[in-house]
Amino acid sequence: MQAAQDNNEGQTVTLTSQCLCKAHTFTASVPASSLPIDASCCHCTSCRHSTGAMHSMDIDWPGPTDDIYKSDLRRFDFTSKVKILFCGTCGTPMFFECRYEGPDGPVATGVFSGTLANTAHPNLIHITDHIFVGDTVDGGASMWLRHPNADGTPAKRWTAGKGTSPELPADWSSSAPPSSPPQGPIEVPIWCKCRGVNFVLRPDFSSLPKDAALPFFVDPESKKLLTSFDACDSCRLAFGADIVNWTFALLQHIHFADSPSSDPETKKFPQTAAELKKAVSAAPPGEDRDPRLGTLALYESSPGAQRYFCGRCSASVFYGCDSRQDMVDVAVGVLEGPGGGAARAEEVLAWSYGGKMTWRQDVVGGWREGLVQAVEGEAEEFRVGRGLPVNFRRKIKEANERKG
Ligand SMILES: [Zn+2]
Ligand SMILES: [Zn+2]
Ligand SMILES: [Zn+2]
Repeated sequence: MQAAQDNNEGQTVTLTSQCLCKAHTFTASVPASSLPIDASCCHCTSCRHSTGAMHSMDIDWPGPTDDIYKSDLRRFDFTSKVKILFCGTCGTPMFFECRYEGPDGPVATGVFSGTLANTAHPNLIHITDHIFVGDTVDGGASMWLRHPNADGTPAKRWTAGKGTSPELPADWSSSAPPSSPPQGPIEVPIWCKCRGVNFVLRPDFSSLPKDAALPFFVDPESKKLLTSFDACDSCRLAFGADIVNWTFALLQHIHFADSPSSDPETKKFPQTAAELKKAVSAAPPGEDRDPRLGTLALYESSPGAQRYFCGRCSASVFYGCDSRQDMVDVAVGVLEGPGGGAARAEEVLAWSYGGKMTWRQDVVGGWREGLVQAVEGEAEEFRVGRGLPVNFRRKIKEANERKG
């Protein structure tokens, strides 16, 4: 709660951008009178696959930039004009370096909003626009961010660039119910923007005996995979995104992209959390390490908790932990919808729309609380508007809460 003291003075508010491992911290002071700061969300395929989140959100960095560009933040060429600056240790994407007029032109610096401390200033950020919503096919996360601002102002949604592409009408939505899973084996590609991470998820619960218990994250009716909304501080730092969406997978269902599922000779993807940790940590790189793990890197954010990200483009990919050996959490942003690339991949994912987000206690009292609350409300409206049932896990969770 950085700004309590600033608020008392009523003059300036301090913004702090910090990575998950705390190796990198940058601050900026802004006059309280200049708030809120305009932010825009980019839903393009590249932003999703370079963060692991459903979109990026950034604001112009209002502070000094010398320290940022002198730091050892790793750089990734996002486009010919834009670089992502991220922490090579923990994978947090921190800044965009934009040179729109060529390498010698002026530099604009954007900060990933998920890295900003949860300052106790309710109107810190105002979301004005959603860009490249067309890339999502199904509207992606813009569906629950149409009215994200405390003052009720809507955010505009653009097919591609702001002002240079058609604006989507306010009532535009993909109202269709999620399509049913494709017939036959389902393939869900898992890849990061630089393609250094290239796996495939083949969720298959049909081979289980009829009465076998399903993993907790599988919808007993549809066999789709639970997909959560998560407001946890460590996740937002790892992704550089304020709200993170995870789905879940058994490790036996994850494969190297070019490996056939049935060939017994091919060495399989690591089958337990311990094997995955060992395989990715194998040093020196290139020797004991399976080259098919590509650029997958590991940061242990707390004892027994493994966060996997791309060491080249920064995308968050998996979360593994010692207490759940047979599975990992999978970042939804690095998935490709199997039926035409829809960002929400509802053919295979059972989204937990509405209700309280996981770890929402982390945002209480800070500027993010309003955003989280708006998303919870609008995701619920989105669910009801489409006639979708309450998600199976939410039913269990709310029944448990009622029991106390
Ligand atoms: Zn770091
Ligand atoms: Zn983008
Ligand atoms: Zn990558």
